Formats: sequence, structure tokens, C-alpha cells
Amino acid sequence: MARIIAVANQKGGVGKTTTAINLAACLAAAEQPTLLVDVDPQANATTGVGVDPRTTMRHVYHLLLGDANWREVVRPTAIPALQVIPSRRELVGAEVELVELPDREHRLRIALHPLADQYRYILIDCPPSLGFLTLNALVAADAVLIPLQCEYYALEGLGQIMETVRLCQRTLNPQLAVEGILLTMFDGRVNLAGQVAAEVRQHFRERVFRTVIPRNVRLSEAPSHGKPIILYDIRCAGAEGYLQLAREVIDGAKARAG
Ligand code: ATP
Ligand code: MG
Repeated sequence: MARIIAVANQKGGVGKTTTAINLAACLAAAEQPTLLVDVDPQANATTGVGVDPRTTMRHVYHLLLGDANWREVVRPTAIPALQVIPSRRELVGAEVELVELPDREHRLRIALHPLADQYRYILIDCPPSLGFLTLNALVAADAVLIPLQCEYYALEGLGQIMETVRLCQRTLNPQLAVEGILLTMFDGRVNLAGQVAAEVRQHFRERVFRTVIPRNVRLSEAPSHGKPIILYDIRCAGAEGYLQLAREVIDGAKARAG
């Protein structure tokens, strides 16, 4: 059965999409069949793996509203073991339309159920909010991965997402675990970055990934070429970071399996 990991943080621009794309690509490169699910109307994960939303007639919106089944929405990528369920701008409407529907928090979980035995990992890229789309991802997920940019307000934002995770655990998804907090865009030359990283580790200890993703310009260039970093520049520090993160995630799964 696939391990379903939601990549979430209500704070914008912290590296959710970069992490979802590149962790998914690195897991796939390690021969772990992986599905990337884009539930952000910005569709950055979709374009980031080379799928043009304009050519995408059936996408995650239709899946959530029950107007399409998974066969109609799963698309291939340039990496054989990586597939994607794309998003498109219309998904904005789902945030409102879901409110009216039965099982409104469980739609994604139900939709992904038939896919769980086809993949080893399913990664969900969430929008920068704690609305119904993120809630659907947290209800569908076994675990949440929280990217965190090492800056002054990071800890404050972390409190909010952790509270949402606890709320989910108490009500909609008691199984939800914290896969880990991931320090992103780390710049060792900036004192504050080191201080924030130390503080996060002190508070959250083993829930923080050992891997730290460095600030790396190649990571910000790759999406405009529609490529995960390992296809764009496998030797850069950013690629190294995400390859190491994939190993940490795989080792964690092995440790849990005993
Ligand atoms: P949103 O909340 O809008 O969905 P996000 O949390 O998904 O944003 P990203 O889109 O992954 O964040 O990253 C924000 C910006 O920072 C992007 O331009 C991305 O290319 C860049 N970026 C992400 N990680 C890195 C990194 N490690 N080094 C350099 N640039 C990065
Ligand atoms: Mg994003």
C-alpha cells in the first residue's frame, strides 16, 4: 500500500511545491512507483513536472467532485516511475463547491483509495491555506511533511499548521502522523537561518528531518523548464538535498516496517 504524504503549510512560498515535485522525482528515481497529486489551483506542481494545464481537460477538480475517475486524470511524466494528477485554475471553485457536498472532507481520500495499491508513495502538494483542499489532503494522508523556511516568522506559522494537524488527529484522521518538518532554502551565511534551525530542532527534535535543503538557484530555475531537479541538474546542491531527503523517507518507511 502506498504511503500518502501531504506536503502542507498555510504559509506561502516556503517550498511546498519544490519539495513535492523533487521528493516525488527522487523517490521515483529510487524505483519507488510514485504519484504526485496537485491540489493547488496555482498548478505549479503540474507545470513543474512538464504537464501543460491547458492540455489538461480532466484533472483533480473533476476527481474531487466525482465527475472523473482516476483513469481519466493520471498523466505520465518524463520519469517512468512518476505519474501526476494535474490541477488547473478552476480548482479554486472546489473550495466553495465542496462545502455543499457529502463527505466534503473525505473526497480526496475516497478518490485515491483505488490507487493506493499501485504506488509506493503518493505525494500531495497543498495550496497555501488551511481550507477544504488542504483539509482533504490531510484526511487522505498517512503523514504530513511540513516545509519550513528558516526565517523570523517561521515558528509562528508552524504553530498554526501543527494545531490543524492535531485537530485532524482528534476528529477526521486519527492515523495522521507527522512525517517530518523540513528546513528549506537554508542559507548558512545568514545568522538568523542558523538560529531558527536550531530553535526548530530544539522544539521538535526527531520530528525534524536531518536533511536540510539549501538555497540553490538551480532549484528555482528547474520549474520553468518543466523538469524536476534531477533531470535539470543532478549534480547541484539542491538535487543532492532532495536525493538525501528521499533516502531519509525510504529509511523511515523501512524502520516503521521493522
Ligand atoms: P505557494 O505557497 O505559493 O504554493 P510553495 O510553498 O509551494 O509556494 P515554492 O513554490 O516551492 O513554495 O517556492 C517558492 C519560490 O522559492 C519558488 O520561486 C521556488 O522556485 C523558490 N525555491 C523553493 N525552494 C528553493 C530553494 N531551496 N532554493 C532556491 N529557491 C527555492
Ligand atoms: Mg506551491
